[in-house]
Amino acid sequence: MEKKPFDQLGVSPEILKAVEKMGFEEASPIQTAVIPVALAGKDVIGMSATGSGKTAAFAIPAIERADPKERAVQVLILCPTRELAVQVSEEFGKLSLFKRGISGVPIYGGQSYERQFRALHFGVQIVIGTPGRVMDHMDRGTLKLDKLKLIILDEADRMLDMGFREDIEKILTAVPESRQMLFFSATMPRPIQDLIGRFAKDPAWIKIDSVAQNRPQVEQTYFEVDRRSKIEALTRLIDVNDFRYGIIFCSTKIMVDELDEQLHARGYSTDRLHGDITQAQRTRTMAKFHERKFEFLVATDVAARGLDVDDLEVVFNFDLPNDAEDYTHRIGRTGRAGRKGRAYTFVSGQEIYKLQGMVRWARLDIRRGRIPSLDEVEEARTSVFFEKIRATLDEKKFRPHDRMIDRLLDQGYASTDICSALIHLLQGGAPGTVASSAPPVSAAAAVKPARTAAPKAPAPGSPGEGRAAADVPYAGATADEAAPPAGGDGPLGAVSSKPRYERVARTGRTAGMTTIFLNVGRKDLVLPGDIVGKIAGVTRLPSSVVGAIDLHQRHSLVDVAENEAEFIVKKMAGIRLKGATLAPALASETPLPAAD
Ligand code: ADP
Ligand code: MG
Repeated sequence: MEKKPFDQLGVSPEILKAVEKMGFEEASPIQTAVIPVALAGKDVIGMSATGSGKTAAFAIPAIERADPKERAVQVLILCPTRELAVQVSEEFGKLSLFKRGISGVPIYGGQSYERQFRALHFGVQIVIGTPGRVMDHMDRGTLKLDKLKLIILDEADRMLDMGFREDIEKILTAVPESRQMLFFSATMPRPIQDLIGRFAKDPAWIKIDSVAQNRPQVEQTYFEVDRRSKIEALTRLIDVNDFRYGIIFCSTKIMVDELDEQLHARGYSTDRLHGDITQAQRTRTMAKFHERKFEFLVATDVAARGLDVDDLEVVFNFDLPNDAEDYTHRIGRTGRAGRKGRAYTFVSGQEIYKLQGMVRWARLDIRRGRIPSLDEVEEARTSVFFEKIRATLDEKKFRPHDRMIDRLLDQGYASTDICSALIHLLQGGAPGTVASSAPPVSAAAAVKPARTAAPKAPAPGSPGEGRAAADVPYAGATADEAAPPAGGDGPLGAVSSKPRYERVARTGRTAGMTTIFLNVGRKDLVLPGDIVGKIAGVTRLPSSVVGAIDLHQRHSLVDVAENEAEFIVKKMAGIRLKGATLAPALASETPLPAAD
């Protein structure tokens, strides 16, 4: 279904200005189809999915048809609920911003009659209301409809479901026969067809198919997660699906900052947008995101509003949006252009009820999902890697390195060993570190040398490092150079400027100890003693539960007694140390940032 610019729909300059101000670039298919027909005075039966822009499709003709000089109700819009009446009236307010002398008022149950009387008395041209309250005002004589030119039914099927059939029939019977009618409904059950048959005059039927109108094809899933586990859940979902381009929505600026930092600390390439960020910086961030210079944008709704990306692989609702409207808006940024998008929504505790409300309200097709286990994450990483190797082999997308291989073979190495060594290097291992045993845990807080000298540049093609190995630039390596190609530049530059994670070799660790990750490091001026002291102080465990501590620039790896590890991780979360808020995690479950 086609879309047109608003200036081809025959609307007034004031409306053009308003839609421009609202940031609408072009009319949606339902708007493109409905507006000219409605402006021509014809009755319309419109059917299209939630979020397709029906409000403006009827509000624009409503505004255009109203005569500012006539102070009588000329347009009546019926909506099923007060929320909807308020929403429609807000959109109406924005669309009529530049139309002088046109005013509208929502009337719904629960609001004082007084206020509504005053507004009606003042001579509004457009009334937006629920059928019940509209009937009340008609009965009281406070709402006169003898000058009505246009009546609009929004979500007619829902109004009938809610038992408004009789009220609607009464209203339709009471208004002047000459009025035009715009009628919107998602479905066309028998009673709706009857209503149309009785009250519409030779209507134009406009149906926009979900697929044809390019409605986002979004697979929607929600996950019930404890607030504390959200980040872990997020990173697992990213890893298992190998997502590379998405937005993560949070509800507050503080949460945006926090999450951006935490993801950064875990080695994801992220940036953020929220209201406190200067316009100049925002523009830069958006441009970078467009160019895919980083993978995930962490943002609030407001900040992301003007962002015109629509080819995201995934949208995460890290925090539940306020309402179905925001939800639809957020997820509409994925799944465009015929590709399947994903929308993952986290709910904690009571939020599930809110989500259920939104599902009912907007008829969301959302399913419950399960956070992948660590094994699944690991398996996915391995299989991504495996597939990449296979694709590279199948497509012969590699340069032969015969000379180097021959040299190794000549020296007596088995080809399987050579391959294993290369995979080890690609996975971020350093030469010779495979089974090296960690130094014994001596006194608490012994500083030990960094256990894995991670390569400065990521090894492109390692699992989690994304893109098909076949795309990997060889960074000028000649056939004989043994070094893994350097990332950072070339086609992969943007996303590979930092390894997604670097797994800690868990073999050879001291028995009974396990490693936890802490998001503080040398840059925070943290000393091993600080960490031991803090852990012992907070958990009330003896300091001997802490073993070796491996301080990095921005994070630390702390060995702790295996049987206390989870307790320690739990207790230390949110604790402040040297000005930082700790977000500890079991290192085995954490994608670690690059060594620094
Ligand atoms: P529906 O009633 O069909 O469910 P809405 O009218 O509520 O849809 O519109 C859904 C969202 O899309 C709203 O946030 C609205 O502001 C926005 N919207 C409507 N028309 C356009 C447009 N032409 N361009 C961009 N956004 C639009
Ligand atoms: Mg609507």
